[in-house]
Parts: sequence; structure tokens; C-alpha cells
Amino acid sequence: MADNCIFCKIARGEIPATVVADAPTCMAFRDLNPEAPVHVLVIPKAHVPSLNEVASPALFADLMQMAREVAKQEGIAASGYRVVWNTNADGGQTVFHLHAHVLGGRQMAWPPG
Ligand code: 5GP
Ligand code: ZN
Repeated sequence: MADNCIFCKIARGEIPATVVADAPTCMAFRDLNPEAPVHVLVIPKAHVPSLNEVASPALFADLMQMAREVAKQEGIAASGYRVVWNTNADGGQTVFHLHAHVLGGRQMAWPPG
């Protein structure tokens, strides 16, 4: 837990978010500035800065499991979607509490920017 971390605050219920999935170790909520018709963030409830610091394979599995459950729930599993882990500066990470972006509902471009 980190006092001034925005996603820790969301995990603690101190900042409102539109939660779409909840489990003991992780949760998912809609991105404030969606880049696609479906744009959901999956986070661990405990503070982990980035993908580099994930210590537990079980936590990683929980996050990935929730990402694909969210895709199914949002109706984009069959049409297709993208799971993105922006990591550190070159990866474009701006919030340093681990999160997977689940994006879909439109054709994604490749290569990414
Ligand atoms: P990053 O750039 O770190 O990969 O992604 C951070 C994401 O968090 C961005 O897509 C941004 O829109 C989202 N975000 C930042 N602050 C908040 C917030 O307070 N609530 C929600 N729901 N999303 C946020
Ligand atoms: Zn945090």
C-alpha cells in the first residue's frame, strides 16, 4: 500500500471508479480517459510499481485471468482485444501502480505508437 498512489486509493475505495470486476487479489475498473470503446484497467490491490516488480506468478495469473474475464464480460472476447502492460519510461507508463489495459471494441492499429 502506498499513501499517495492513485490506484491504491481506488483499491481502498477512497477515489471513485467504475469497477467492473473484483477478486481477492485484484480488481478492474474503467479508464478515466478511454482510448477505445472498451478500456478497462486491471490492477493488483496491493501496491506493485510495474511489471518488473511482480514477485508472485500466482498474482500474475490472477491479473491475466481477470483481463480475459473482463474481455468476455465486455463482449469483445470473440471480436478481439488487446492487453497492454506499459512499463517504465519507454513503455509509456504514467501511473506507477501496475495495471493491464484491456482495450477493444474497435480495430486496433499495429504497430503501436
Ligand atoms: P499508463 O499510461 O500508466 O499505462 O496508464 C495509466 C492510465 O490510467 C491512463 O490510461 C489514464 O487514463 C488512467 N487513469 C489515470 N488516473 C486515473 C483515475 O483516477 N481513474 C481512472 N479510472 N483511470 C485513471
Ligand atoms: Zn499503488
